[in-house]
Amino acid sequence: MSRPWHEPSKEQRLEVDERTALTEIYWFQNDLRLQDNPGLLQHAGSKKLLLVYFWPESRPWCNITGMGSQRRRFLLESLAALRKDLAGLGQDLLVLSGRPQLELPRLARETGASRVGTSLSPGYYERRTREQVAATLRVPLQVYGGNTLFRADQLPFNAEKMPVQFTPFKNKLQGITPTEPAAAPSELPPPPPGLVFPALEAPPCKPHIAFAVQGGSSAGHRRLRQWIFGEQAILQYKHTRNGLDGLDGSSSLSPWLALGSLSAREVAAQVKSFEAEVTANESTQWLLYELLWREFFHWRAMRDDINLFRVGGEPGRVRRCTFEPRNFARWCQGDTNFPLVNALMHQLVGTGWMSNRGRQIAASCLVNEFGIEWRYGAAFFEKHLLDYDVASNYGNWQYLAGVGADPRGGRHFNIAKQTEQYDPSQRFINKWDGLRPLQPEFVTDAADWPLP
Ligand code: FAD
Repeated sequence: MSRPWHEPSKEQRLEVDERTALTEIYWFQNDLRLQDNPGLLQHAGSKKLLLVYFWPESRPWCNITGMGSQRRRFLLESLAALRKDLAGLGQDLLVLSGRPQLELPRLARETGASRVGTSLSPGYYERRTREQVAATLRVPLQVYGGNTLFRADQLPFNAEKMPVQFTPFKNKLQGITPTEPAAAPSELPPPPPGLVFPALEAPPCKPHIAFAVQGGSSAGHRRLRQWIFGEQAILQYKHTRNGLDGLDGSSSLSPWLALGSLSAREVAAQVKSFEAEVTANESTQWLLYELLWREFFHWRAMRDDINLFRVGGEPGRVRRCTFEPRNFARWCQGDTNFPLVNALMHQLVGTGWMSNRGRQIAASCLVNEFGIEWRYGAAFFEKHLLDYDVASNYGNWQYLAGVGADPRGGRHFNIAKQTEQYDPSQRFINKWDGLRPLQPEFVTDAADWPLP
């Protein structure tokens, strides 16, 4: 992307010191919203404010590179929506494709910024990047709480001592309530002068008709209100959440939550309002329970750091697996001998979304039927999911593969039984073209790449 600054004239340079004395920078990450954004609010009192976002760095990993077109589309829409919301406050967002550890120190130098703020994201690379930014900046980097229900100081344990399994984690949080979501700032300081905000590229595709969601806070709020108060679908959530289609059984709020266009506290607060104004039942409680899973994986990822990407996870557990490239390719393309898995993979690539039940079945197929190392599947999900979130994705994959938080040591789903239970009339399989001619299995043998 182009350099964001006009070269200042000599006179302009003279003014720079005075004008930028109280400039600050806020670095947006997965908190693409104005409302309930405590970090952004901390910078609303500066004289000038530069708002910046860095496009996710493409890191080749497990033979996979780049971002699927639906995920790219949703992110571009989310950024465009944030820019629109900022324009209402006389602000804009500088979207750069460079590395924060190189670009932020340069921007801070050029604007004479006195401090830089950002929100906390879990993940090993995210932590490393933050540390490198802090080490190269000549001004403080302030890191505020991330998109979680609870602040770190509300947790009754520190990160290293957190319960490593969900049930004790959840039990320890009983009685602690999330803070109320904060309002959006009513005004923001203007950006420093002389900045050019390059236009965003056009989205590479349209939303798929089967999961026609748009990025951005307004679209996220519409879905939240519609699902809870409009359709009141939350009242049946416990019984419908395992449905395979998007926007049907479960809330489908994850894409907005993952990019931070919605905060987890906002979702919890809407559920509480519904319970107070309309009614509470098992299903309304179940949605809050699922948000606790998200919370669990977030804090667990903070604790696990690089272990989240290790094949044996935090315990370093040995799991026999192989890498048979033809089987992996067939799984990715939805060309296996399991019609339900094929349909799920077509849904994922076509829409950027898959239900929780679908993810468990597809992941179990890769790990247990093909014996392929789980990280390859996680990397493919990372490429395509609109709601890709490092903690939830890698945490759930590890859980399923038996190297993570599952007390039962992993899950093996019987695909025939799952098909009978969740797609008895094969409606989903037909909709997503899951029936393919049977193919010979590629049996793994000693010649395959053996992985420990
Ligand atoms: P709902 O059932 O309506 O739940 C409400 C919210 O609770 C979700 O939006 C989500 O934020 C949270 N939630 C629900 N279940 C889980 C869970 N098991 N783990 C963490 N949070 C949960 N979720 C992601 O947000 N990003 C991912 O990258 C991701 N990768 C996954 C990979 C695998 C292999 C598996 C099995 C699950 C993964 N999940 C991930 C969790 C879950 O599948 C999705 O959050 C859920 O399907 C999103 O749909 P929903 O919003 O309708 O969920």
